[in-house]
Amino acid sequence: MDIQLTLPLDHDGFLRRECPHCVRQFKWHHGPANEEAEGQPAPAAYHCPLCGQPAGMDSWWTQEQLEYAQGAAIPAATRDIEQGLREAFKGVGNKHVRFDLQGGFGAPDVPAPLTEPDDMMIVTSPCHSYEPVKVPEDTSGPYHCLVCGQAFAV
Ligand SMILES: [Zn+2]
Ligand SMILES: [Zn+2]
Repeated sequence: MDIQLTLPLDHDGFLRRECPHCVRQFKWHHGPANEEAEGQPAPAAYHCPLCGQPAGMDSWWTQEQLEYAQGAAIPAATRDIEQGLREAFKGVGNKHVRFDLQGGFGAPDVPAPLTEPDDMMIVTSPCHSYEPVKVPEDTSGPYHCLVCGQAFAV
């Protein structure tokens, strides 16, 4: 099953993330921010800039992103099942038995794409300045480096 998910970036190229530990949101830069970042190995885990706790790369989905992924997966799964049934019933029908799958299963539509507002402010850690993050404007730090978790003041 092939599901195409498009998550929006804000105008600076940042992706919204949610910490699995403190459940607060921040953003990280999607893809290498510059040439120095490109040359770095991809880390196994990132640290939350707000609480400093590490988590694996796939642990940072926001509630909205999860709901969107679910909403996008259900119609795709339903289409798959329906296709499978049509294949299974092929040649089974005779003049007494007819299978009719007309109209489909009433699969829900794919949800409207998410949008990403240009909120939050960029902060850069002194130790790994090639990985900037965006944090909510109502926070005051100290923040933690995304790459190594080191605390820093802004
Ligand atoms: Zn956190
Ligand atoms: Zn660092």
